[in-house]
Amino acid sequence: MSIHALVTDKTDAGYVTEMNEVAEADLGEGDVTVSVEWSTVNYKDGLALAGKRIMASTPMIGGIDLAGTVESSDSINFEPGDKVLVNGYGLSQTHNGGYATKARIPAEWLIKIPETFSARDTMAIGTAGYTAMLCVLALEHGGLTPASGDILVTGANGGVGSIAISILSGLGYRVIASTGRAEEEAYLKSLGASEIIDRNTLSEPGKPIGSEKWVGAVDSVGSHTLANVLAQTKYRGVVAACGLAQGLDLPASVAPFILRNVTLSGIDSVNAPRDVRIEAWNRLASDLDPAKLEATISEIALADVPETAKAILEGKVRGRTLVKVAG
Ligand code: NDP
Repeated sequence: MSIHALVTDKTDAGYVTEMNEVAEADLGEGDVTVSVEWSTVNYKDGLALAGKRIMASTPMIGGIDLAGTVESSDSINFEPGDKVLVNGYGLSQTHNGGYATKARIPAEWLIKIPETFSARDTMAIGTAGYTAMLCVLALEHGGLTPASGDILVTGANGGVGSIAISILSGLGYRVIASTGRAEEEAYLKSLGASEIIDRNTLSEPGKPIGSEKWVGAVDSVGSHTLANVLAQTKYRGVVAACGLAQGLDLPASVAPFILRNVTLSGIDSVNAPRDVRIEAWNRLASDLDPAKLEATISEIALADVPETAKAILEGKVRGRTLVKVAG
């Protein structure tokens, strides 16, 4: 059976992504063949399809996440019929990703889907949601509990932000959501945000240290926003930094660290060790309310991915976008 794929190629007119037929021999190295059912669109997928330093070579099948069923396996750890997922690793960077009806994957990249989830659920969560969970684990590792105080979530309407709000509120934290889209207040409150603030209050150059407003933060924005978040974090607070929606820079001072004992915790989902991934997925299974997850989802077809990938870079996508690959 032919493999339908969304292939990105570099042309004289720039990066172009189109539906194509691909031969199984061209899927790449790996010991497990997966029949892909669902994928998703993350901010990084937007960067990849726009040719912004993600794909190491072209042509490449994009999609940093995939979920489906094992079709054949040369690994003793997987057998046909197993429900599996991949987040990150080399997908869409050095290896063909999830925007195809079939994928050939190194076994060490695969995780069996927790029983509470369907393949669709795991892609509704995707790298963005799994990263949100890694951020929550970092806050807990830093000693925070719901009794410690309020948690700020920046980029609130985005994939990481929406899922972070849902998890944190479910755990009993009071959540402050920072957004540029005040019109989405009802949506953010339905996910569990108690207070909404305008992201412009954080996005301009600020003072090295300010009044103490939150004890922890999940930041997917970076740049001046992260600097201001740190400057307004309470004594012994923890900030989990995972993103760069405003910028890659961090124009901050050491004041929050040496005067307030603030911890800045870096989050990388792509190469996170296997035990950390499994812990994050198990915690998602227990801590993320399925109804809130469903409220964050828009579902699209594979052929619609290029349009959504463009929109996510423009900050126009709300919540999570699920891609129905097959079935
Ligand atoms: P989304 O585009 O879904 O969310 C980003 C959100 O940030 C937007 O919805 C918007 O929220 C806000 N935003 C956008 N532009 C700006 C801006 N110029 N200034 C301030 N806020 C802005 O992306 P994801 O949730 O998928 O990813 C978020 C970030 O996290 C990205 O930078 C991504 O690369 C990174 N990431 C990193 C990972 C890691 O392993 N470290 C893994 C996953 C994601 P609003 O409209 O509410 O203001």
